[in-house]
Amino acid sequence: MYRRRHILWFSLGGALLLGWLFCLPRQLFKGVSYSTVVESAEGELLGARIADDGQWRFPPCDTVPARFATALVQFEDHHFWYHPGVNPVALVRALADNLRAGHVVSGGSTLTMQVVRLSRGKERTLWQKGVEAVQATRLEMRCTKREILALYAAHAPFGGNVVGLEAAAWRYFGRPAAELSWGEAATLAVLPNAPSSMHPGKNREQLLQKRNRLLKKLHAQKFLSDDSLEAALAEPLPEAPLPLPAWASHYVERCPKGVRTRSTLQLPLQKAVEETLRRRSDDLAREGVADMAAVVIDNATGDIVAYVGNASPERERPGRQVDIAASPRSTGSILKPFLYAAALQEGVILPRTLLQDTPVNLGGFAPQNFDRQFYGAVPAAEALARSLNVPSVHLLRLYGVPKFHDLLQTAGLSTLTHEASYYGLSLILGGGEGRLDEITAAYARMVRDESPIKDPWARWYTYEALKEVNRPDQLDWRLIQSVRKAAWKTGTSYGFRDAWAVGMTPGYTIGVWAGNAQGQGVPGLTGARAAGPVLFDILNLLPADDRWFQEPQEEPAWAPVCPDSGMLSGPDCPAPQPTPIPCAGLDSEPCPYHATGEFVLPPAMEWYYKTYHPAYTGAKKKTTEKELEFIYPQQSASLSIPRQLSGAVEGVVFRVAHRRNDATLWWHLDQEYIGETRFVHELRLTPAPGKHVLTVVDEAGNTAFVGFSIAE
Ligand SMILES: [Zn+2]
Repeated sequence: MYRRRHILWFSLGGALLLGWLFCLPRQLFKGVSYSTVVESAEGELLGARIADDGQWRFPPCDTVPARFATALVQFEDHHFWYHPGVNPVALVRALADNLRAGHVVSGGSTLTMQVVRLSRGKERTLWQKGVEAVQATRLEMRCTKREILALYAAHAPFGGNVVGLEAAAWRYFGRPAAELSWGEAATLAVLPNAPSSMHPGKNREQLLQKRNRLLKKLHAQKFLSDDSLEAALAEPLPEAPLPLPAWASHYVERCPKGVRTRSTLQLPLQKAVEETLRRRSDDLAREGVADMAAVVIDNATGDIVAYVGNASPERERPGRQVDIAASPRSTGSILKPFLYAAALQEGVILPRTLLQDTPVNLGGFAPQNFDRQFYGAVPAAEALARSLNVPSVHLLRLYGVPKFHDLLQTAGLSTLTHEASYYGLSLILGGGEGRLDEITAAYARMVRDESPIKDPWARWYTYEALKEVNRPDQLDWRLIQSVRKAAWKTGTSYGFRDAWAVGMTPGYTIGVWAGNAQGQGVPGLTGARAAGPVLFDILNLLPADDRWFQEPQEEPAWAPVCPDSGMLSGPDCPAPQPTPIPCAGLDSEPCPYHATGEFVLPPAMEWYYKTYHPAYTGAKKKTTEKELEFIYPQQSASLSIPRQLSGAVEGVVFRVAHRRNDATLWWHLDQEYIGETRFVHELRLTPAPGKHVLTVVDEAGNTAFVGFSIAE
């Protein structure tokens, strides 16, 4: 009998113990939604978004600032550091008070019990209080005192829709909880006690008295000196809730929801970049350019250190919510440096290989240079620096569209979702779309040697070419205060819809975009005018840095290079210069222009080239080279006949270059004589749809012909 009772008690005790062990949910605040909180690299608040349930409730912190902790413990539960979760003396006293009153009037709850109550959100009844007390003892087993305090600070109500100490510190005082004064800490310590009946917008007098009583108590306990007390008592209560910091607002939108994110943005730089963009954007707004974005990357780490998805998001205009830095836009010329570097790396060209710059029609695609001029032949580095379109199309044809398409994808561009054939050669002129953040990152990865451009000499020649600032789409240098050295490139998309500028220094990569999120073009919106000045403004905000890209340590290939063509020297090239080139350059084409010992370009190239190069003499001796050549169209071109707006047929201008200025040419379309030209060999024709052959003959009987087709 005795034994049986013994077992019974033992089992009961065991069951109770088990029950106690499992009485507390594994995760106390399960299902609670938190604000999205994004901090700068330094840990300062960049911005926050309200939680799903409409509360300003920041994700819990590990620690509670000392002043608030002291004030809270003194106000709510001054045995907190010693009791096991419940304070029997306080409970009994509260029970007596409540029984006398017939309902719950006073708490007697410890902070631990309050944490449990906050997590359960149940009615305040005696039964619930009992459950809270039991669970509180269990919570004390699981967590340290400081962890319990942190749970309280994160979930206590502070009036209105403000939950948790951190949100309260920002909403009421506009600063982080760690920087609160004694007066502020005391205000927040007394608020959760009765947040609905008393907060800074309600019963202010009572709140002030409550705070001051606490301050005096803290002073009596020697936490505050006499002077501190006096200063704290003189502090005013907060007024209406303050707006939270709102830096990098589009970046904050990109961050994971409902958690705290420590970003890589540097707050002082972020502020300065936002201010710069706001100023520049306000100027451009008068010209009809509404939106502007910028991204700054630290090349040492690859981290984004400043990000403006759209300048002046507060200014009322359509499209201001669009994070334009992450939106696909036509790339204009902004990808040209990758082609130059890739072509160098693979030995398709040498740094100054002459590229053809004559009219072309590639399956209906007839690119023009920005200034609508042709230069005959231009060194590749200069073509890049001047952003000439026609030579870059020729270069892409040499390099290969599918290969370049692959390279851009490997470089991190996620927006080229179509097959290479969809873009064709227009890929190098903005036929594809790119995002400012990805393009800027692709440039930064080139500096960091994390891009498909592996050859250090190819990269170095690219930086050197981009250092040149003499461009056809001139930057207005008067708009720029001081110019630091950068390797930079601009881009302007078709129809003046997108203006780009990306610049690199050894330390940083900066990308700027300007235009309209809605897509409308603005005459005169060019990368150099709209985006370039902002790029240099931002460059001036960065730490001063006189370094420049070093010549690579890696041994280059040394090769004799023809001074006229920039290509590998042939047997008849004059005074070849030993030049460091990427190793693959040893397999590049040798110079074809000195076959006769003289520098002679093909007639079409010569026709334009000699205008810009008075020293160019062409063939002085009788050569076996061609005397005349079609400039336009090219062999097998398919043409369509342009019409004017009125519907009138314009005709196509056919052109021939002849080496002699005074040559006379006789023209034949499909064997039929159609006219003659002298000095300038141009004829405007409107051939019928279908295939044709155009033939020209000079006095000496030299002929040239071109086959082409006219679209229906
Ligand atoms: Zn040569």
